Amino acid sequence: MSAAATPGQGPVARGEGAVGHTAEIGVIGGSGFYAFLDDVTEITVETPYGAPSDSLFLGEIAGRRVAFLPRHGRGHHLTPAGINYRANLWALRSVGVRQVLGPCAVGGLRPEYGPGTLLVPDQLVDRTKSRPGTYFDGETRPDGERSQVVHVSLADPYCPVGRRVALDAARGRDWDAADGGTMCVIEGPRFSTRAESRWHAAQGWSVVGMTGHPEAALARELELCYTSMALVTDLDAGAEAGEGVSHAEVLEVFGRNVGRLREVLFDVVAGLPERRDCPCGSALGGQATGIALP
Ligand SMILES: [Zn+2]
Repeated sequence: MSAAATPGQGPVARGEGAVGHTAEIGVIGGSGFYAFLDDVTEITVETPYGAPSDSLFLGEIAGRRVAFLPRHGRGHHLTPAGINYRANLWALRSVGVRQVLGPCAVGGLRPEYGPGTLLVPDQLVDRTKSRPGTYFDGETRPDGERSQVVHVSLADPYCPVGRRVALDAARGRDWDAADGGTMCVIEGPRFSTRAESRWHAAQGWSVVGMTGHPEAALARELELCYTSMALVTDLDAGAEAGEGVSHAEVLEVFGRNVGRLREVLFDVVAGLPERRDCPCGSALGGQATGIALP
């Protein structure tokens, strides 16, 4: 990787001093997470899958280099289905990221997971419909490279080490995060009907979100560690008796908790291992993919 890389092959720096910009940890979340960092460098990155949601914002926390990527783009202009998840994960890996944190807003499917709950899921269920969910589709990319069809395990979709660090960090800030649970990922952007919501709850699932898939699956395909941190902003339609969830309500609860979540997130960054010994880094098991990972 160098700043001289051509579009489609790596990062293209904007501004000065971009040579050698790398990060080891990626955070996919809103601008509220890096807005208060000193010395943030913005770089644009092109990928063979198109442009990511926004620039990468590189900064440092506790001596660790972090790349922040606003999942919905600044100004929140991308729908959950409109996010280029493949470009996002590829861009992060191409600047050196190997461990990814994915904070997100979710609805609670059980009364005990009310607004303000932080849940670190250990499972997910994909209920999305229209999102490219693999790099290994056997198709030829615009740059002429063609992937093979490769199957990876997603039995345990989240990094076990990242989950543990996230839970410890939350508890260290007196936030008793829920350890484990299943995130159901729906297509959106609409919220669930009551019937859908009750059905999700009846399956034993814990929370419902719109972005957790294919983010986790694509991270696995790139042999990245991925840890989801789900902030409950509302009780989903089937779990409450009122009018049902509104976007304003979600924004209000998220806004109230974003400072707290940022503190925890920074502690997670500081606590992640510098050298990985989890299984994530060998998820492909040496299978030939036909395309070189960045
Ligand atoms: Zn891992």
